Amino acid sequence: MINIFREMENAGVTEAAVRLQEGRTQAVTEYILKRLVLVCEDIRVTDVDALSYLEILFYRVLEDSRIARKDRALIHILAKMEEDLEFSTRIFGERAGFILDFLEADTLIKATSKTANEAEKEVLGKILYIRRTFFEEAGVEAAPQVRKPMETAAYLDEHVIGQRDAKVAIATAVYGHEKRIRNPEKRFVPDVVLLIGPTGCGKTEIMRRIRDITGLPMVFTDVSSLGASQFRGRHKEDILLELYEKAGKKKSLAEKGIVFMDEFDKILLPAISDRGVNVHDDVQSQLLTMLEGSEVELKLESQSFLLDTSRMLFVLAGAFQGIDEYIRQGIKERSSVSGGIGFNAMLDKEMDASFIRENIDHEVLMRYGMKRELAGRISSIAVLEKLSKKDLIRILTEPKDSITSRLSRELKLSCDAELVFTEAALEKAAELALKDGSGARALNGIMGNAVREVLYRAPDLKELKKVVIDEDAVTRKGCARYIFEESIEEKLDSYTAEGNHYNEESF
Ligand code: ADP
Repeated sequence: MINIFREMENAGVTEAAVRLQEGRTQAVTEYILKRLVLVCEDIRVTDVDALSYLEILFYRVLEDSRIARKDRALIHILAKMEEDLEFSTRIFGERAGFILDFLEADTLIKATSKTANEAEKEVLGKILYIRRTFFEEAGVEAAPQVRKPMETAAYLDEHVIGQRDAKVAIATAVYGHEKRIRNPEKRFVPDVVLLIGPTGCGKTEIMRRIRDITGLPMVFTDVSSLGASQFRGRHKEDILLELYEKAGKKKSLAEKGIVFMDEFDKILLPAISDRGVNVHDDVQSQLLTMLEGSEVELKLESQSFLLDTSRMLFVLAGAFQGIDEYIRQGIKERSSVSGGIGFNAMLDKEMDASFIRENIDHEVLMRYGMKRELAGRISSIAVLEKLSKKDLIRILTEPKDSITSRLSRELKLSCDAELVFTEAALEKAAELALKDGSGARALNGIMGNAVREVLYRAPDLKELKKVVIDEDAVTRKGCARYIFEESIEEKLDSYTAEGNHYNEESF
């Protein structure tokens, strides 16, 4: 081992030190590596790996033609180490950890002394950055395992009702994404998934759940509020800055992040500004540069840096109202060319999610207003169903942490009483939500309103045992029913009031 290091000193360190003695950064390199040679005398066997790994890093810097000879320095060795750790913290972690310990101790002493120079501070900053990114906080690599698509879909099933098509598309894309960000290959093109579905049907909810299990930084952004780059307002850089902040200002983590762009359909329609510019044309171009994978210059606190989008996952979402019309138009044109065969059959068909699913393609998206290059970037399209009354009832009760279980837990915590929703109440809430037209989004408000008074009064009601929310409480024609003790009369009252919805188990 000592030999390896002596060789290294002979072949590289001394040579480099002689050649590069003028630069301050180079002096640090020399100093540190010489110190390393000294500790080799009493090296432990387990450190052998670490030192030979350092040697490899050293030669990689020497061989890197992009770094001018005079600029080769310890900071570059650390940059190579960072590359390796990005590839796999698990494989390189132990050896890198040893080297960092050593370098940090040395550099720390120098960097805090009166003679500290910028190069030492830079090296120390880099060491701390690598530590924080790869070791101290549970990063991507620390996650135990990449979930397979079916496992992710099963997890989504616990929280999101229906929407299988979207769950499969997202679970598969996230799996591919997680595999790719652990992959050493340098060239990537971002994965882009498009979710089409009416408002409040679970598009964002699916991604919220993905954020919870992947631990990857994720931004949820409404792209309809983006403006043309030559004007003031929000631009693509703001989305990426938000991602960077979500990643705890760790560039390498932000570059593995997920960007969810809602209201994507809105930027496909022309929006002409006072100056006669189609703002959305520019917005689409801005987003295209991100989706194609590029280095975007960001500015934060008067510092600028580049964020590479080529390894990110992008999920675009929107209601795409009226897209079935564009599909029909296409079918009509094609069928007139082919003598009208099949068009009437298509017309008879209900324009539901499955119709869109079967017929959506890049051509239709372009008809809808998407630039050809942007449409070409979309790797997978999933169509979500409009939620039925039955779905909405399931959403109220089935998911883990459903609205009803959340409200029940709240009452339990505030006064230890039970909260019961009758079936009629659930049905009514679903009907009201359907009328509202904002999908499941309205359910929260409807049930929240029904229970608000209960949560207000309950803490002052002594010996309250149970509160029943029925249809009248939901429509707010009546109040919730408060049950204080289990007298036979109350049981009977409640039973007759609620019919078969309120059975023995409820007591
Ligand atoms: P959008 O499809 O417009 O992105 P969201 O996913 O944000 O809508 O849904 C709004 C709310 O409705 C969510 O917070 C979630 O609680 C609920 N929700 C919508 N769809 C579902 C679903 N399929 N399963 C469970 N909850 C849902």
